[in-house]
Amino acid sequence: MQILDGKLLSKNNKEELAIEVKHLKNEGKRAPHLAAILVGHDGASETYVNHKVKMCNDVGFGSTLLRLDENISEEFLLEQVERLNNDIDIDGFIVQLPLPAHINERKVTLAIDPKKDVDGFHPVNMGRMLLGLSAYLPATPYGILQLLEAYEVKTSGKHCVIVGRSNIVGKPISVLMARNHALGNCTVTQCHSKTIDLEEKLKSADIVIAAIGQPEMIKADMIKEGAVVIDVGITRVEDSSKKNGYRIAGDVHYESVAPKCSYITPVPGGVGPMTVISLMKNTIKAYKKQVYK
Ligand code: NDP
Repeated sequence: MQILDGKLLSKNNKEELAIEVKHLKNEGKRAPHLAAILVGHDGASETYVNHKVKMCNDVGFGSTLLRLDENISEEFLLEQVERLNNDIDIDGFIVQLPLPAHINERKVTLAIDPKKDVDGFHPVNMGRMLLGLSAYLPATPYGILQLLEAYEVKTSGKHCVIVGRSNIVGKPISVLMARNHALGNCTVTQCHSKTIDLEEKLKSADIVIAAIGQPEMIKADMIKEGAVVIDVGITRVEDSSKKNGYRIAGDVHYESVAPKCSYITPVPGGVGPMTVISLMKNTIKAYKKQVYK
């Protein structure tokens, strides 16, 4: 069994990005700049945004964090999005989700200039990805692809079972795993909460991608010997033995599943760190105007 070590890969990628930024600066160019809008004080969102800002600092990107009060109007948020769309010093930006209930997430996502949509959530980027055109790939699916590539995991002709159909993970990764590409060419089965006989489907999978949000739901008896298992799930589970009172659990019961796998991602330290790296890579692409030529 080989661990798909996202922590290590992200560390290596971070160093490479830092060198690239250093070269840009040595040539007298400005650094790439990522902005983030954070509305309210959701604990998990704060953590994710802080990771992104820290990563910007680590690789030498410029970063702007726009913290907005939970009670701001949708109109005000849309004005901020427009301001970032027009700011020539900002290459890409994200609006951290979820947004408060009174704000329409879809409207906000649609307002982002697709050329600056480094999260890859805008329908233009989703559509371009679907058609095989250059696009900002959503960060988590992009991170999964980088792990598969780095560890030379063979995907062509394999049966890939994806559990989850969210817009940010399940749907896009199903498109990417099925596309005609060296990191794709899978036969994909997409599962969700209404899937009948999920266990049977999982047992027939060469590659399992779990993006469910149900801690440790996937157990050893659901996995084929030698399968590749990618665990996207991140859930806080109460744990009185921890100082902060919780631990982070994936969707896969790691201890029992890992011995059966050919490759597996740990949680934490698997897909999560690669998600942040992907955002940085998308920002460099925005800076270099590589996506929309
Ligand atoms: P969503 O809640 O948007 O989607 C969850 C999906 O899982 C849905 O499609 C749902 O089906 C399906 N599902 C839920 N319960 C079951 C079940 N019992 N059996 C089969 N399918 C089920 O979640 P996200 O895609 O946003 O995130 C999934 C997980 O990944 C979360 O734990 C999240 O925190 C984590 N995450 C991790 C990231 C990282 O960087 N590592 C990035 C993004 C997310 P249905 O559509 O029918 O409701």
